[in-house]
Amino acid sequence: MIDRPETLLTPGPVPVSPEVLLAQGSPMLYHRGPVFSELLADVADGIRMLLKTSAPVVIHSCSGTGGMESAVANSFSPGDKVLVVSIGNFGERFAKICRAYGLDVEVLEYPWGEEARAEDVGRKLSEIPQCKGVLVTHSETSTGVVNDIESIASVVRETEALLIVDTVSGAGACPFEMDAWGVDVAVTGSQKAMAASPGAAFLAVSERALQAHERARLPRFYFDWTQALEAYNRPNHECPWTPATSVLMGVRVALQKIREEGVDRMVARHALLGKATRAGLQAMGLEIFASSPERANVVTCVRASEGVDSSKIVSHVRKRFGLVIAGGQGKLKGKVFRIGHLGWVDRFDILRALAAVETAFVDLGLPVKEGTGVQAALEVFQAADREHGGDPPA
Ligand code: PMP
Repeated sequence: MIDRPETLLTPGPVPVSPEVLLAQGSPMLYHRGPVFSELLADVADGIRMLLKTSAPVVIHSCSGTGGMESAVANSFSPGDKVLVVSIGNFGERFAKICRAYGLDVEVLEYPWGEEARAEDVGRKLSEIPQCKGVLVTHSETSTGVVNDIESIASVVRETEALLIVDTVSGAGACPFEMDAWGVDVAVTGSQKAMAASPGAAFLAVSERALQAHERARLPRFYFDWTQALEAYNRPNHECPWTPATSVLMGVRVALQKIREEGVDRMVARHALLGKATRAGLQAMGLEIFASSPERANVVTCVRASEGVDSSKIVSHVRKRFGLVIAGGQGKLKGKVFRIGHLGWVDRFDILRALAAVETAFVDLGLPVKEGTGVQAALEVFQAADREHGGDPPA
């Protein structure tokens, strides 16, 4: 094999375009001055475009989990009742953060691989008087399942609870309409569909969430929205503390590329890549883990063969082909592997991944229908070519 950098087909971090990498390598900027101020304004506008909102945007220099923590710390007071809807590892993380902050947490928990149902959320909410917030994952990266946030929002909107959505891996890959659906806080990150480096988290915050923030008494300092928005609203937009300037230089270019592609087309690209990945794996005789994978635009979670430790498949694909796929997380460790189709990724990355997985199965003596996966995925792409008159999204 030729010596080239590993290719990430993980659900974050993701491959990043050379333009973004070059921007990150530009000379250092001072974070209190006109050039960085313009960059911050551009980034905030780009996040609004991505999340389909006109809400103010808070920018933190941290990974997505910091963004989740910021949402909790800024929205509630000690002892507040909240409902966490959990369908996997990142739902569990939301519950852990809420407990760490001393909230009174109810969890509506589903078996991993299933999606949440709006009617269950509605029923649960009717059992929790004075519920102050519902926290839910959009794209559950540990299982590939994508929740129907629009329907969940419609039931939460009938109550006084804030709706806080972790769309760290969902935004830009799955449909998401913050304002039209009535989401109060949307959290996303730089290292997923946006296709920039890890290190920045973004929160769009509705008017209702800002009012709740005024009353919220949980302790906070670094992530305080009041400080963040006060600094942003100065004539020269600023962050209160020294931000990850190089990461944000890359984010600005990544968002510019999204503007050129168009958010809807970007979502359609991820949908097509997900569809082709599933078709290829199923043709190879493999089983997709999620119960209803049609919306799985971010990552495809695949069951390993019975009795096989999935990490062997992951490490074989990496060692032999320099292609990085992900293993299982939490209770799925060793049971599944995950192929990310997220970020700066196109159809040829998927065809490579399918060819690599098939070869790994053959090398490891595992059952697989040879010669079928790449073909099935190609057929999905060719059908898209016909449907889109030669201008498909991926
Ligand atoms: N939520 C989801 C759904 C995620 O996929 C991730 C990243 N894997 C996160 C939150 C945040 O994780 P991190 O702090 O590693 O960016």
